[in-house]
Amino acid sequence: MKVGIFGGTFDPIHNGHLRVAEEVRELFSLNILYFIPVYTPPHKRDKFITDTEHRVNMIRLAIRGNRFLRLSDIEIKRGGISYSFDTVCFFEKKYGDIYFIIGMDAFLEIDTWHRYKDIFFHTNFIVMVRSLGLKKMGIEIFPEDMRHEVRQIDQNMFQHTSGRYIYLQNITQLDISSTKIRELSLNNRSIRYLLPERVENYINKRGLYRK
Ligand code: ATP
Repeated sequence: MKVGIFGGTFDPIHNGHLRVAEEVRELFSLNILYFIPVYTPPHKRDKFITDTEHRVNMIRLAIRGNRFLRLSDIEIKRGGISYSFDTVCFFEKKYGDIYFIIGMDAFLEIDTWHRYKDIFFHTNFIVMVRSLGLKKMGIEIFPEDMRHEVRQIDQNMFQHTSGRYIYLQNITQLDISSTKIRELSLNNRSIRYLLPERVENYINKRGLYRK
């Protein structure tokens, strides 16, 4: 079983998230890809986030009909600050071969994460990049204090001493963000085609992201 885990605030989930999930799922032949809405993000503790119930409902609506995509409420059930280390250990125990899906921007800041060096012992990584090939990426994408634990295998692949792999993967990044959707909605502007129609209807019906 190859299982992808894709965490985020998903406030709301949109077509940018869904498209990368689809591409990564296909390219890595993942059997399942889990969307994992965060409960309290360690880096955004004082930021307002929509109720977990709504964020969860919107993910459910968005992935309906795609048998590869699932929702995991593990971070919500756990409560408190959501640390990726805990989530990764949970999925590793359950499935073994897991793939942590993350954008390059976030990966480059991984040294600010709780137990970041330990995470590499429990999961593979799929680091999504926009323009691979234009710029050569080497060992410098890893925090300095763990470079000795990683070797580069080829331009898109590294191996950690644990045996786990870190893949760099080109993906289609649609110019959509949750922030943009929230702003449009706040200004009574259309959010159509930026996210699934079912999610759009959910937002409109409940007046989410309005004044
Ligand atoms: P916000 O605008 O509120 O910061 P967001 O749109 O970036 O939200 P998140 O829930 O924070 O959404 O994102 C979860 C993950 O999805 C992150 O790793 C982020 O890099 C990635 N992601 C977000 N938008 C896109 C997009 N348009 N294309 C590809 N990946 C995306």
